[in-house]
Amino acid sequence: MFRSLLDIIFPPLCHLCRVYIPNAGDVHLCTSCLEQLHPVASPLCPICGVPFATEDGIDHRCGACSVRRPAYVAARAAFVFDGPIQELIHRFKYAHKTHLSRPLALMTARHLADFAGQTAADIVIPVPLHKKRLRWRSYNQAILLAAVLSKEWRIPLSRNALQRTRWTEPQINLAADERQQNVKGAFAVAEPERVADRRIILIDDVFTTGSTVEECAKTLKKAGAAEIFIITVARALSN
Ligand SMILES: [Zn+2]
Ligand SMILES: [Zn+2]
Repeated sequence: MFRSLLDIIFPPLCHLCRVYIPNAGDVHLCTSCLEQLHPVASPLCPICGVPFATEDGIDHRCGACSVRRPAYVAARAAFVFDGPIQELIHRFKYAHKTHLSRPLALMTARHLADFAGQTAADIVIPVPLHKKRLRWRSYNQAILLAAVLSKEWRIPLSRNALQRTRWTEPQINLAADERQQNVKGAFAVAEPERVADRRIILIDDVFTTGSTVEECAKTLKKAGAAEIFIITVARALSN
């Protein structure tokens, strides 16, 4: 009764195309928008999580992970960073649509529930923003996502264990090797007792080259963390 009254005052509309959706559930995306999402699927690299272009075959290490293991154990993304997901993340991150953290995180929580369970993580940590960027944007998108994910997976959240101590240029305009250099030494562990010997899931919105999460993982390992896993909503593909 209360629900149907609410639906009259605030009719549930699709976050993307604004079409009315009866029985919207908690994600609020219509069937046609949902069908345009591309979940990341096997075959993929079991380490960095990059999906391979072929639809057949089994998971195997990608070229980069065969040459050098990252500091984290494994990374997974729920969706390929294109189409509606790219649009949603863009609005969430740059247009102050903070309520979009919920559908994005809920879909990620469901797609990656098995992976999150297998990590046996003790704690969820968001990739931090520098306080200067936090002032501009007024929120850290990774914290908003991590808060929902932590609740869904029932893994405690630590907002402040990891800090961004050095200002860095936005990664968006940089090539892969420049990105790595750009974030070098940019993070520090503020609460070492919260990360020592812990299994950690690090949360970010998009995995692009992986240099930001790799630098975070290195910093956490140096502070004594046991194992780091990466979970992002989306994964950018270079082709
Ligand atoms: Zn729609
Ligand atoms: Zn890989």
